[in-house]
Order: sequence, then structure tokens, then C-alpha cells
Amino acid sequence: MQRKYLVITGGVLSGLGKGIAIASIGNLLSSTYKVVPIKCDGYLNVDPGTMNPIEHGEVFVLDDGGEVDMDFGHYERFLGINCKFEWNLTMGKVFEKIREKERRGDYLGKTVQMIPHVSDLIKNHFIEVGEKTNADVILIEIGGTVGDMENELYIDAARSLMREVGKENVLFIHLTYLPIPYGVNEQKTKPTQQSIGLLRQRGIEPQIIIVRSSEMLSEKTKEKISAIGNFKPDEIITGLDVDDVYKIPLLFEEQGMSQLLSKKLNIKVIPNLEKWKSLILNKENAKREITIALAGKYTALEDSYASIIEALNHCAAHLSVKINVKWIETDEKNLSLKGVHGVIVPGGFGSRGTEGKIEVIKQCREMGIPFLGICYGMQMAIIEFARNVCGLSANTTEVDANCLHPVVDILDEQKLIINKGGTMRRGAYPAIMKVGSVIHSLYGEFEISERHRHRYEVNPKYHSILLERGMVFSGMSPDGKLVEFIELPSHPYFVGTQAHPELKSSLLKPAPLFKGLVEAAVKFGEGESIAYF
Ligand code: GLN
Repeated sequence: MQRKYLVITGGVLSGLGKGIAIASIGNLLSSTYKVVPIKCDGYLNVDPGTMNPIEHGEVFVLDDGGEVDMDFGHYERFLGINCKFEWNLTMGKVFEKIREKERRGDYLGKTVQMIPHVSDLIKNHFIEVGEKTNADVILIEIGGTVGDMENELYIDAARSLMREVGKENVLFIHLTYLPIPYGVNEQKTKPTQQSIGLLRQRGIEPQIIIVRSSEMLSEKTKEKISAIGNFKPDEIITGLDVDDVYKIPLLFEEQGMSQLLSKKLNIKVIPNLEKWKSLILNKENAKREITIALAGKYTALEDSYASIIEALNHCAAHLSVKINVKWIETDEKNLSLKGVHGVIVPGGFGSRGTEGKIEVIKQCREMGIPFLGICYGMQMAIIEFARNVCGLSANTTEVDANCLHPVVDILDEQKLIINKGGTMRRGAYPAIMKVGSVIHSLYGEFEISERHRHRYEVNPKYHSILLERGMVFSGMSPDGKLVEFIELPSHPYFVGTQAHPELKSSLLKPAPLFKGLVEAAVKFGEGESIAYF
């Protein structure tokens, strides 16, 4: 089929959920077509890897090791695909490429300009990704809000894409916001009108408008928007506030989205939402309730652990459990696990809060509270075990470079990589499971693959003592050198991994270790006869 491009822009405010909106549209398309997303970010960092998660949210890591925006998490979870680093454009990457080309003499003595050179490079990237992936539909999300200086070049590239691939093959969707001011109690369309106007000034006529709102749009509101934009009422969709983002594909479908897409793109969209719907209902009708503590450093900003929360959501739907998340800031004094049925110590960097994490893990180990340690969380579990079970004065060299027993350390081969400028073990790595371990039974496979993002490893010099004292290495790298998964067999659920399994969790296929944790937490709750209603 002729490749189609869907471009989503945002108006009025940032943070309205463009990523979720386009991922939801992609979800409807993906049961019939091969859908590939491209995200365009305006910032000058090459990727978000160096940004503070408090400011930017979680750094999402792909199979190929690329560090990308959190929106890729939504794309992967809603489209059921593994994304690639080159599907994320940032202005940092764009200018890097322009400079490379200019130095190489590709511009043959011409003055290199924002338009056409930079915008052409972006447009060509859109087309190349389409060709390389052989996608039927390319989703292009332009970050920020129309009118921002940062995204002008992306918008221009999308405009010129129409000329290149034909107007009929590019569909512009614009997401705006509808305020209902207190006291006036009226749905106000002016911001939507104005942002459509801004888009028109840039040569773009949106064909579908999604209006984010706390209420369904009234007929009168739709008429107003129709009048200024020559839209038909069915081309105006309410992006209703919902308590669960997984409801958005259903919400769009109820308003006739797949019919609209079929008409606009001249294709046949047949969504498949049955399983999706039943999982959402399963979660809504949960009969059991548990509390999982998330003990970390960036607990102030939920976004920095977005994929972990998502992974718990997926388990909630599969196991029909309501999961309350309790945030525990580990550099605070009071680290009580009262009323908690399971604990996650997530990934992290640096020394702040590490002693608190170790203390929390000790309580879990001693009191039989289900525990899942992710990356730094697993490294902390190794330290805790080395200290309190093996009796070593242990630490990671990340916190104490001169500690007596560096049970977690940068390995020599890893140091070589760091010197070469690649600073971390990043992306998908395979692991071989220990047959009969809890983790093996949860995965149900002998060889698995999960994503990584870290520098340090369990120090091989200490493998034997940890094993002697009862720790099980449930998964190792194929060469048998790196500890990828651990567990304590004497404990109801004490599990850790050097990887980030939350990154591959999805509503249809929750991450096995999270499922194991939630199941164990439910049992723990039953044992305490807590929280059943
Ligand atoms: N700081 C640890 C390391 O670099 C863990 C990183 C992480 O949790 N992602 O190895």
C-alpha cells in the first residue's frame, strides 16, 4: 500500500498527552497495519541520557541501547513493537548531522540554511525511516506547542512532506485544550481557534482536532470549532481526562476514530480491542488491594519511575488487584514498611539514599516481605547480603571507591568501554536462566533478553562467597561472567535483576518479575489478613 504519514502537533499547552493520543491512534491502526512512530524533540541535547530525571522524567532505553524520551514507552506499550533510536529526532541530533554534512562538503559551497537545508534533512529522515522499516503508517509526533521556536523546523519539514509524498498521504492531527473557567462554567473554544490559526500560518490545515477536556464537548462547542475550521463534527474528538491512559484507544474508538482514519487515509482500519478492554475491566473490578512501596531517590517526581508504575498497572490488570504505590524517599530517617505488602528498590545513581535502600532491603529479607531489586536495587541487595549475611564490610565503588570489599564494581572490560566513550552497558542483553529457579519459572524460558543501563556489575571475586551463603544466581550472561538475576530461595520472594524489566512490560504482556512480585505481595497480604474487601 501507499505509505501514509500521520502528524500530530500540539496547541495551547504542553503536557496534554500528544504521545498518548498518537500512540492510541497507532493502537487502533496496528492490528491491520505496520505502524512506526517518530518523535521530534526540540531540545539541543543529542538524547535525554544526560538529563536529570527530575526535570525530564524517565530515560527510556531501547533494545539497541538508544536513550530516548519517555513517549517511546507509550509507543512500545500501545503498538506492541520494539522501537529504534533513530526514530527519535532531537534538534541536537539534527544539528550534529547538518554539521557533519557541511564539514564533508555535501553542500557544495552553498550557504547552509535552516530552510531548506535543516528542514529538508528532517523531512528526508521521515521518508527514510518509512523506507527502511517498510511501515504502512508512520506516526510523527512533533514535540512542544505550535508557536514554540524550537519546533518550527519540524513543522516546516512536515509541511514540505506533503509536497513530497502527496497531500492525500499526510494527515495532520492537532491536539488542543478546552478550558472551562471556574464561575463561567462554559466550554471555551478560543484557545483551540487560536492554535489552529497558528498552524494555518505555517501552511498546515489540520484535518482532525482532538480537544483535551474535563467534559465531553457539547454540540454547541463542536459547532463553534467546526465553523472556524470547516471541520465536520465527526472530525472533532474529545480527549477526555481519564484515570487510566489505557482507556484512550477505547475513548477514541467510541467516537468513531477508526472510521474517521479509514475515510481520511483511504484505508480500512479494523481495530482489535477485545483483550485490551477486558484487561481494563479486570483492573477496575479488582477485589483485592495491596500496597507496594517504591523506595528510591527521585520519588518526588513520579515520572522518573514511569515504566515501573506502568509495569505495576499491567500486573493490576492481569491479576485483578488494586495496587497502591507508597513512595519512600530513602534519604529520610523514618523508613517504616508498615502496611506494605511488597517493595521495589528501583534503579539509581550516586550515593544519596543508598544506606536507606540497604536498610529497607534488610527489613524485606528478614521479615519475608516480597522484594524486587532493579539494577541499582539489585546491587544494593548484593551489598546488604554481603554485609549482613557474609559479614563483609561491603559497598559499591560507586559510593566508596576505597571500600574494603567492593562487591559491586566496574569490571576491567567495562573500564575499556568507558575509555572508548561508551559509558554504560546499555540496551538488550541475553541471559541464561538457572533451571528450577523462581525467576526461570516466571519467565518460562531458558534464554531471555532484557534491557540494561548501568556501569557497575556484581564483582566476580565475590561470586563464590555469595553463593556459599545461600544466594542463587538465577540468570547469568551467556559467558557465565555477569550476574543478571538473583534470588534467595529461603524467602517468599526476594528477587533482583541487573536489567530493567519494566521497560518491556506491556498491558498485554506484563513483565514476569513484576507479576511475581505482585502475586507474592497478594499472598503476603493474605497471610497478614490485610486489605481484603
Ligand atoms: N548506578 C548503577 C550502575 O551504574 C545502577 C544504574 C541503574 O540503576 N540504572 O551500575
